[in-house]
This record gives sequence, structure tokens and C-alpha cells, in this order.
Amino acid sequence: MNYNDTPEEAAFRSEVRAFIETEAPKNMARGEGFGGAGEGWKAWVKKLADRHWVAPAWPKEYGGAGLSVMEQFIYNWEMAEARVPRPGGIATGFAGPTLIVHGTEEQKSKYLPEILDGETVWCQGYSEPGAGSDLASLQTRAIRDGDDYVVNGQKIWTSGGHIAKWMILLARTDPDAPKHRGITYFIVDMKSPGLTVRPLINMAGTHEFNEVFFEDVRVPKQNIIGEENRGWYLAQTTLSFERSNIGGAVGARQGVEDLVQFAKTAGVSTLRHNPAVRYELVDRMVEAGLATQMSLKIISIQAKEGVAPGHEASVAKLYGTELNQRIARTALKVLGLYGQLDSKTEGVDASKFGRYKYSYLRSIANTIEGGTSEIQRNIIATRGLGLPRA
Ligand SMILES: Cc1cc2nc3c(=O)[nH]c(=O)nc-3n(C[C@H](O)[C@H](O)[C@H](O)COP(=O)(O)OP(=O)(O)OC[C@H]3O[C@@H](n4cnc5c(N)ncnc54)[C@H](O)[C@@H]3O)c2cc1C
Repeated sequence: MNYNDTPEEAAFRSEVRAFIETEAPKNMARGEGFGGAGEGWKAWVKKLADRHWVAPAWPKEYGGAGLSVMEQFIYNWEMAEARVPRPGGIATGFAGPTLIVHGTEEQKSKYLPEILDGETVWCQGYSEPGAGSDLASLQTRAIRDGDDYVVNGQKIWTSGGHIAKWMILLARTDPDAPKHRGITYFIVDMKSPGLTVRPLINMAGTHEFNEVFFEDVRVPKQNIIGEENRGWYLAQTTLSFERSNIGGAVGARQGVEDLVQFAKTAGVSTLRHNPAVRYELVDRMVEAGLATQMSLKIISIQAKEGVAPGHEASVAKLYGTELNQRIARTALKVLGLYGQLDSKTEGVDASKFGRYKYSYLRSIANTIEGGTSEIQRNIIATRGLGLPRA
């Protein structure tokens, strides 16, 4: 199998590299938790926006760059290699694409431009205390009242809810219909009266997600995307068909490389000679290479066969997130007492030490967010191995 770039792909890769080299501010670091990308972030986002690279997968007519699947892959790869953060998330990945495909012209012209500025945060109101893996059992109710819907209920684990301007909300509009068919997709103004956001601090000590409570929140009927009771099907829409997770694979390899560098240069020479440490670093490096191979396999399915990956994307998600946890555990062993340092402690070089304690704690959530490891295994068992449903 030939994974080399074609001349066109190589040219695009050089273009992305050159752009990063000349335009990405050198003092910009990815922050812990949500947002917080440090100095230079605003200027960087503006440069991406000017180039239509805030939502590069969107069609050109909607302000994207209309990149092909392969170009998206290269773009994501190079951004990850350069360790530069990007805007995006729910706004470019879910809300925008759903509007492009299912929204009215009025909705598109109201919401899309501010997403493309890269400044407006959207959040996703899907999960509830009683509905996560089995999302279709959600209970938040929206009842029609004149020109509005009145929403009551609760969402949980709402990432970025505290800084979001808009929420994409799934709420039940027909309690008598089969559970997938009574759900509607709404846009909700996070400043609406009756809507309360309560912070949830994760075990890594950062404020990323929230609880969101709805008490008689009025949502105008023109804020429905698509048709009433068809929300479940809309919730699957994305325009970025690039699902290889190359960014995750590159990040894993860089994490191991940094640890190898630490072992080589640390004052404690026993570290680099210790067989247990050496073997563990080798294992992680082999695994990071395997994660890259998985990404390449997925992208070749997408680019060459023109189909979205099925269970292969679950394989990469499962493997990549569990690998993150293994790398974090290896890091704490390699770093020894340094591993306990916190990036917020004065005098600690956060880029060197504090981030490992953080990633050890934060990576626990990797195997829950975006579908748990058990759910990925169920998908692989049925769609990949052809086993019957449990
Ligand atoms: C960091 C983070 C950010 C998140 N951000 C958002 C967000 O922005 N918006 C949003 O709506 N949600 C968000 N979520 C919620 C996330 O989607 C859910 O946590 C996830 O889908 C799991 O649902 P649950 O927590 O209700 O667990 P449950 O579904 O109750 O699962 C509990 C346990 O049972 C297992 N389990 C459940 N069903 C099965 C099954 N059929 N077979 C085998 N095992 C099963 C699970 O794997 C898990 O171990 C976020 C979660 C995290 C951790």
C-alpha cells in the first residue's frame, strides 16, 4: 500500500506547513480545559478565518474552503504536528453542518457568519442524567405554546455551556411516538430567561462541562432546525467526513517522544537504563505508530472508496483513547515525583511537567466522551465482527 502524497497532496501539505510557519503565533499554547488558548489566539483565529480555514470542510458557498477528504486529513495532520490549537468544536462540527444541510436560508444567514469568525461558542444539549449511551430515551420536554415552544428539563455534561452563546438542543416533542421519532432539534439562546447553567468541575480541576436547567424556557418556533419530531436524524449530520483522528495519533506520538527526550536528558541516569522504563516507552511508541496506521487505513477507505468509515472509526476511537490513558500512566512512571507537579504551581515549567498530571486525570474522560469504550466495542462486535446484538 502506498501512503505517499500525490504531487497535488504534497503541494497542499507544503501550503499548510508554510501558512503555520509564517502565521501561527509562537507564544500560543493550548490551554488546559475549555478554550483558554493563551496569547495570540485571537490573531490566529482571524488569520484562519481570512483563509476560510475555520471550517475548512464546509462548502465554499457557505464560507468554508471546500477541502476534499484527503485535504482535510492533511490539514488536520499538519496542525497536529505543529501543535497549534484551532477553533471549531460543536459550532463547526455539528451546528453549522446541520444548518447547512437542514436549515432555512434565514437561519443560515443568521448563524453561519458568526461561526466562521471563529469566535462564537456553541454547546451541545444532548445528554441528560438518565440519557447518555441510550440518548434516544431523553426526557427534556418542549411543548408548543403559540409561536413558541416551552422547554422544561435538564441537560448534563454540557461542554462549554458556560461560555456558549447558542445551544443545539434535542428535546422531546411527542412523548407518545416511538422514542427516536418524537425528538426535535432546536437552537436555544443561552441567555434565555429560565435557563440556568451550573458548573461541573472535572477531576482534573478544570471547568469544561456543566449542568443546564430549563424552567419554562421559551424557544421561538423558528428556532427548530428541520421538521418537528425529526431531530434524531438531524443529530447525525456532519460535513467533515474526515474521521481518521490523525490529530489524536500525532498527539500520542508526540507525547511519547517528549517522554523519551525527558528520559534521555534527565539528571537521573538510571532512568534511561532501567529496562522497565525502556520497554514501556518502546511499547507506547509502537502503539502510537499503530494508531497512525489506523488513521491511514480510515482515510484510505474514505478517500479512495468514497464511503464513510463504519466500525473502523470506532476501532480508532477505542484504541486511541485507551492509548492516551496508557501514555499518561507511563508518563507518571517515567517522571517519578516530577509527575506530581501541577502546571499552576509557581515556577513549574507547564510545558514540561504539569501537563502530565493533567493528562493523567483528564484522559479518564476520553473513554466516556463521544461514546464510551463499551459502546465502541458493541459497534465493532456487531458491525465489524458480525456478532448478534447483546
Ligand atoms: C468530557 C466529557 C464531555 C462531554 N460533553 C458533552 C456535551 O458537550 N454534550 C452532551 O450532550 N454530552 C456530553 N458528554 C456526555 C457523554 O456523551 C456521555 O457521558 C456518554 O455518552 C455516556 O453516557 P452516560 O454518562 O450517561 O453513561 P451511561 O450511558 O449511563 O453509561 C454508564 C456505563 O454503562 C456502560 N453502558 C451503557 N450502555 C451500555 C451498553 N448498551 N452495553 C455495554 N455497556 C453499556 C457505559 O459504557 C458506561 O460504562 C460529555 C462527557 C464527557 C466525559
